[in-house]
Amino acid sequence: MQIIDGKKVSSEVKEEVRQQTLKLKETHGITPGLAVVIVGDDPASRVYVNNKKKACELVGFKSEEYALPAETTQQELLNLVETLNNKDDINGILVQLPLPKHLDDKAVIAAINPKKDVDAFHAVNVGKIMLGEYDFLPCTPAGVMEMLHSYNIEVSGKNCVVIGRSNIVGKPMAMLLLHENGTVTICHSRTKNLAEVTKQADILVAAVGRPKFVTADMVKDGAVVIDVGMDRDENGKLCGDVDFENVKDKCSYITPVPGGVGPMTIATLMKNTLKAAKIQNNI
Ligand code: NAP
Repeated sequence: MQIIDGKKVSSEVKEEVRQQTLKLKETHGITPGLAVVIVGDDPASRVYVNNKKKACELVGFKSEEYALPAETTQQELLNLVETLNNKDDINGILVQLPLPKHLDDKAVIAAINPKKDVDAFHAVNVGKIMLGEYDFLPCTPAGVMEMLHSYNIEVSGKNCVVIGRSNIVGKPMAMLLLHENGTVTICHSRTKNLAEVTKQADILVAAVGRPKFVTADMVKDGAVVIDVGMDRDENGKLCGDVDFENVKDKCSYITPVPGGVGPMTIATLMKNTLKAAKIQNNI
């Protein structure tokens, strides 16, 4: 069993972005800029936003944070997105989800200029991913693919099972595995005999949002197990969707939580922002 080190792979990706950013500054005088918008005071969102800010500093981007109060109105948020759409020194706009309940996240995402949509959540970018002609890939699924590539894990012809069908993880994850010629099954809360399906997986991706949901009896011997979950166990400790201690010995490769998919998500965000800056400047 080998542990896939998301911290290491993400450091390599960020280093590559840092070097390309330096080059972009030298050759074109351009510094990529990312704006992160956070509404309300959700502690998990705050941690994610701080990590994104730190990553921007590391790779040499300009980063702007817009922390709005929980009672911000839809119109105020849309006005901010419009301002950021028109700001030349901002190449990427990220609105941290979830938003407070009174706000319509779909309308907010739809308002972002697709060229600045570095999360790849806008319908234009989602459609492009479906067609396989994309500029940006959604950060978490693309981060998973990067880890598989980094460890030379072949997807083509493999049985790939994704548990979860959310728009931000499960669905695009399945699409990226399909693009690389995996035979893909998507499972969800209505899937019958889940363990029977997951036991067929050569590559199993868990994006469920339930602590330690995937147990050893659901995993085939020698499987590659990717844990997207960021959950809290009964003691409030960060854990994944996979019962790591029990599952690990059955796997050929497994990602830990923390230190697996999480850091890759942020590294991909940096890659997307750099690409956005290049596209917007016709480079
Ligand atoms: P989500 O929107 O809540 O989706 C969860 C999915 O799991 C749904 O499709 C749901 O099925 C399915 N599901 C729930 N219970 C199930 C069950 N008993 N059996 C089979 N499927 C079941 O969650 P998400 O946004 O995709 O996030 C999933 C996890 O990834 C969370 O822990 C989240 O914190 C984490 N995450 C991590 C990162 C990162 O950077 N590492 C990024 C994003 C998310 P239905 O569709 O039928 O309801």
